[in-house]
Amino acid sequence: MPLTVEEASETYVSEMRNLLPAGSGICLTCKTFIDAALYSTCYACSGQPSLLDAVVPITYSAHLGQIHTVLRAYKDAASEDARRFASIRLTAILWRFLEAHEACIAAAADTSRFGLVTTVPSSSIARDERGSLRQIVEWCGPIKDRFQRVLAPAEEVSAGRGYDEHRYTATRDLAGETVLLVDDTWTSGGHAQSAAHALREAGAVTVALVAIGRHVRPEWQVGSTSCEQLLTALPKRFNWDTCAVHAR
Ligand SMILES: [Zn+2]
Ligand SMILES: [Zn+2]
Repeated sequence: MPLTVEEASETYVSEMRNLLPAGSGICLTCKTFIDAALYSTCYACSGQPSLLDAVVPITYSAHLGQIHTVLRAYKDAASEDARRFASIRLTAILWRFLEAHEACIAAAADTSRFGLVTTVPSSSIARDERGSLRQIVEWCGPIKDRFQRVLAPAEEVSAGRGYDEHRYTATRDLAGETVLLVDDTWTSGGHAQSAAHALREAGAVTVALVAIGRHVRPEWQVGSTSCEQLLTALPKRFNWDTCAVHAR
């Protein structure tokens, strides 16, 4: 019996946590935890251009937690079986989420529908050729027919996660396009914002992003609490019927 999307999306559901909507204590851009008394965006988002019309991670991903582990395993696990197991689960999570919430992301980005879907290229050209994230998008029912590779990493990729407007280039003209950018993890957002820059340079009018995990360091302090305490306080049951936009 083949696994259904619903079944495959449940494998890690006990570790998945719905994003809180942007607002007090939550970064306006990426929805991570911030000190409400001091900030409206997180440190990383406040230090780089905000070029995405919407940023919608599916679940928080605690550093070294199970979601973080599977988000690495699909690319880096030693055995092909393990990479495939993780890739199928992540595809199902993205599939089920987009089936329910692509319209929410589009509404948040002020468009009716994304005409084009693309991925944030991997940090190395070799890894981008191996294309694990691409495989997930090519399997993902709601978006696979709109997927095109339109970004290439620059030859001289600057190291690190920071924003760099020369990190990627578009491989064709994108005048008037409405683009849904897919990434596995949002950490600082530097690569995603760099990708958005390249898409806009090529003429894209709308660029929004869905990421599977919003990476969070549990030990980080936010005001008087730790991110671990904030993660622990979230509802334990992942709700597929809501999203960070929906819940606004
Ligand atoms: Zn942020
Ligand atoms: Zn929604």
